[in-house]
Amino acid sequence: MIRLSESRLSDKELAFIQIAFEKGEVSFYGDNIQGFESDIENLIGRESYVACTNSGTSAIHLALILCGVQSGDEVICQSFTFFATAAPILYQGATPIFIDSEEDTWNMSPIHLEKAIKERISRGKKPKAIIAVHLYGMPAKIDEIVKITKSYEIPLIEDAAEAFGSKFKGEYCGGFGDYGILSFNGNKIITTSGGGALICRTQKGRERAVFYASQSRDVSSHYQHSVVGYNYRMSNILAGIGRGQIQSLANNVLARRENHRFYRDIFQSSKVRVLKEPSNHYFSNHWLTCIIVEPEKTGFSRDDIRIALQEENIESRILWKPMHLQPIFSESSYFGEEVAENLFNLGLCLPSSSILSVSDKQKILSVLMRFFE
Ligand SMILES: *Cc1c(COP(=O)(O)O)cnc(C)c1O
Repeated sequence: MIRLSESRLSDKELAFIQIAFEKGEVSFYGDNIQGFESDIENLIGRESYVACTNSGTSAIHLALILCGVQSGDEVICQSFTFFATAAPILYQGATPIFIDSEEDTWNMSPIHLEKAIKERISRGKKPKAIIAVHLYGMPAKIDEIVKITKSYEIPLIEDAAEAFGSKFKGEYCGGFGDYGILSFNGNKIITTSGGGALICRTQKGRERAVFYASQSRDVSSHYQHSVVGYNYRMSNILAGIGRGQIQSLANNVLARRENHRFYRDIFQSSKVRVLKEPSNHYFSNHWLTCIIVEPEKTGFSRDDIRIALQEENIESRILWKPMHLQPIFSESSYFGEEVAENLFNLGLCLPSSSILSVSDKQKILSVLMRFFE
């Protein structure tokens, strides 16, 4: 089976775990947590203070808590994304307001974002936070989004779960918002088996995050709690996997960009569109290579491709179903048109593992060539 997105562990990860075992640091304290957090801080640069978490989802939840999001508040969120971006809004009892994508990067449309902010403010409901996503590794129009969020003084959370290693104008994704989040789930560009990180802009913000992520324990000789807390920290064992994995990040980015080049060459002379960087300001890790197939132009559909791949044991996946079309969000407000909806109806993610081999590519190529005959 050729999978959509697989990672590979090396001996480096085992070495870090070994040390943790020897030192008896198997829980939430130890060198690996500190080491992994400073590895991420050094990579992202800017003002970055990192708290590692047990998932990307919990990092988003913590970011919302730190933005002061409470029951009854409204949070603006990109509609075209994976459910984990939006679900933590509900954990806080808040209400999401969904925003359509733009055509260039498939991420949050700055135009509809500003429309939504204006409309909500005119109704006396200023949004408490904004969540923008760098989906499939493609950086969003983050300079425009930052400008808007700053001018209305609303905190920005950057969901860079799929975009570790991606850059906009030479700066890493996760470094632009008031908070950035990463995921190290099994299918992401690097993995800790499961895990995530919250990137804060101040040391104090990081300390608050660690406080909430470790059961909100007050400073006291006994166990005392004044606010609700969570069990969201990453274990020192998994941080050891992360320390090894982050050394492979640059190579994984290279490999995935190479996969993207492979698919672009295949589809170059066809009517199938491949998601690509709109200009040299954008540097995508190309976590997944995605295509758009318009049957009236191509004579075949994305499902024809999907099924043909499946028959050869090759996995592909329909693009994320936008949040404003999800049953759970059927009552939610939405600003935009049909960009995200069209992507969902026409798009497909192709196998993009960092370990995709030459023979895997040969097999994929032979299936795809059939569509051009
Ligand atoms: C994977 C992912 C998350 C959540 O990460 P987990 O570590 O799986 O909780 C959040 N947002 C996006 C866009 C993702 O792809």
